[in-house]
Amino acid sequence: MKIYISGLYSGTNPQPGVGIARSLRLAYPDALLVGVEYSNRCSGIHWQDFDEIWLQRPWDELNLDAHAREIGRVLDAGAFYISAIDLEIMWLASVFPEGHPNLLTPPVEGLYQVSKPAIPAHEKLPVKIPPFVTTEISDWDLHAFCRKHDWKVWLKGPYYDAARTRNWTEFENMRNAFSSAWSTEKLFLQTHVTGYEESISFSAYKGELLHAVSMRKRDLTEMNKTWAGDVSVVPTEFYEPLCEVVKDLNWTGGAELEMVRDPDGQLWMIECNPRYPAWIHGATIAGHNMSAILVERASDVPAQKSPAVTDEFTRVVLEIPVHPEMPLPPLPEPFAGVVGHSLKHPSGLLGFANRLHGMNLNGQNGNGNGNGNGYGKLNGKELTIVPSSFMDDISDFDFEQIQTPSFLYLEKTASEHFNRAAKIAGNLSTEDVAVINAYSMKTNPDARLVQQAYEAGFLAEAISPLEVSKALEVGFKPEQIILNGPGKWWHKEHLPNEPIHAVFADSIADLQRVVAALESGELKAKIAGMRLRMPNIPSRFGIPIDTPELFGELIEAIKTLPRESGFGIHFHMASSSVGVGQWWHLFESMLKWCSSIEALAGRPIEILDIGGGWFPDDWHEGADEQFKKAVQSVGEYLPNVKQIISEPGKALAQPSMALAMRILEIQDFPNATDVVVDGSIAELPMYFFYPHRILHQNGETGSWKSLGRGKAYFLGRLCMEHDVVASHVELPETAKPGDLLVFCDAGAYDRSMSYVFGRG
Ligand SMILES: *Cc1c(COP(=O)(O)O)cnc(C)c1O
Repeated sequence: MKIYISGLYSGTNPQPGVGIARSLRLAYPDALLVGVEYSNRCSGIHWQDFDEIWLQRPWDELNLDAHAREIGRVLDAGAFYISAIDLEIMWLASVFPEGHPNLLTPPVEGLYQVSKPAIPAHEKLPVKIPPFVTTEISDWDLHAFCRKHDWKVWLKGPYYDAARTRNWTEFENMRNAFSSAWSTEKLFLQTHVTGYEESISFSAYKGELLHAVSMRKRDLTEMNKTWAGDVSVVPTEFYEPLCEVVKDLNWTGGAELEMVRDPDGQLWMIECNPRYPAWIHGATIAGHNMSAILVERASDVPAQKSPAVTDEFTRVVLEIPVHPEMPLPPLPEPFAGVVGHSLKHPSGLLGFANRLHGMNLNGQNGNGNGNGNGYGKLNGKELTIVPSSFMDDISDFDFEQIQTPSFLYLEKTASEHFNRAAKIAGNLSTEDVAVINAYSMKTNPDARLVQQAYEAGFLAEAISPLEVSKALEVGFKPEQIILNGPGKWWHKEHLPNEPIHAVFADSIADLQRVVAALESGELKAKIAGMRLRMPNIPSRFGIPIDTPELFGELIEAIKTLPRESGFGIHFHMASSSVGVGQWWHLFESMLKWCSSIEALAGRPIEILDIGGGWFPDDWHEGADEQFKKAVQSVGEYLPNVKQIISEPGKALAQPSMALAMRILEIQDFPNATDVVVDGSIAELPMYFFYPHRILHQNGETGSWKSLGRGKAYFLGRLCMEHDVVASHVELPETAKPGDLLVFCDAGAYDRSMSYVFGRG
């Protein structure tokens, strides 16, 4: 018996070839095992169980046709072939569309069915699939998906590769890396499931499930790969539907279903690999020789039984002799002054992925997108729809008169947002509790926005006496002002003589200072309180309550607050960074803390200020019901609260300004277009944190178009490497130097934190 086994990489993220060889050696001591590799740097080629090594050129250099003919010849001659390389498996499926009795890999149709991440095959299994989206949707929608799922998301490659992306910059970087590595835009963003990882591996032949085994990861490498595990039989409620699935898929070969079991016991399927897992010899140790079962069925040659040694396995690192005929490759030439080695997977798999794309093997998953550059035809899906009020406002400008780059104040949009917020607050107010907004001045202190807030009946929220004075200038009365933050004594000469609405201390020291100022009459406030720092959430603001000692200190400090002022608590966690789900969780928890504080300090909480930090869309869309419930919970936990204050900043300011700029130059490259613009990151400092919706005006017709994804990079005017204001954007064919671009969503910190730079 002769068996070819590919996938011998044996680094820290190993392939299963060596494990398969060890297992088959036990079952067939006399078989001729041939290791197939595409690089002499895969250490598995030196493994003792291989009788021969069939070494090929790396994938990106290989003559695929000749290789396919060779494999066909080998199979016809009676040898078996077990592939343990995902991409090779896909390629083999295309080379042998009708299969081959000796080719122990799955057929094309079965592979389509398990391609990421919907895995239609899962429907019969007792598993769920974590929510996911394709990255072909607009950046705006991708960002919303991440916020919704608290940034607990994985970016996944088309075959394998997955990375946690914890913020927009990480997401953009990983997307660029994956897209260029795999030459496709068709990646997935999937939510993270917290739980313990387990897998089921099975063997099948022509749709018949031969055996399955279950493994729980008991120890992991830094890359979350199995280091130790325990092995058990697959329970009937999984095995029976799995039989059906295998039949539907007409599966041949090995496979692995990677899953996470959440704390409620629910299984979530994360991945379905069309090959054995790298830990497969661990199953053999526990008496389940998966690859032997497969070969036995395909060959009718009885395998020697491998008795179970134990049901747990672990890994060690072994030094083994290098095969004398395959000495280590020479040290690499120092390149550009750098000397380095790397255990990076060396066989040109990424290059192969490129070639596979060119061959359009990706079937339904790659519909019409076999052109290799991955940017296929726009199907409209990835276009962001810009709200109509933006267009209304933008069409009012006479751009002939505007020197770019220039911020555009979108007046109708601003007024719509402020009035809507006021209306929502009104609707949420009850007989017992008034709900009111306070505009966060620092988010964008533009007098026009402050004026909008004033007219909409807001309070003004200031973090410095200078902001207080700005609010007073616009028309706010002292009793409509809230003073917050760590810098409230900077330029304190601007504090008004009349009482302000509320002051919140940011630390115990600040609270002592507030007490002194209230007692001396330096500051007058109807409500005095403090900001809470929630346990377990990193923040530099507010008073921490992590330990009983700190909590005790806070209670004592509250007791010193003068009785003439009412008491209030402030809480501010930006849902735009902690995530919407997490924010609501923290909100509940905050109410419980407040209730304890009220009881222990003996001071009724009259005002609850829940801060800002909302991304505009999260605050507007469908949140009303949730806010209504929140008002109810406040009543339940804190019956003395008379007023709930929310402090929107960017939720209102962000959409209310845009940045106009013009194209200076367009330079085409084969796979990219560099577009130099007269705007820069000095005007868009938030570029790194969230996507901006971009409009282009046709220079001839004057019509506006919202830009989808594409191959253009918008490079700022600054002579700075990192001045790139947008990447992977579509550039309309009509675009010319001099054309206008409008970057929307620039009215919050883009505006207020923009700086003067490169203007002479
Ligand atoms: C900055 C700030 C806000 C507003 O935050 P946004 O992210 O702009 O919504 C609200 N309250 C306080 C205390 C702040 O410091």
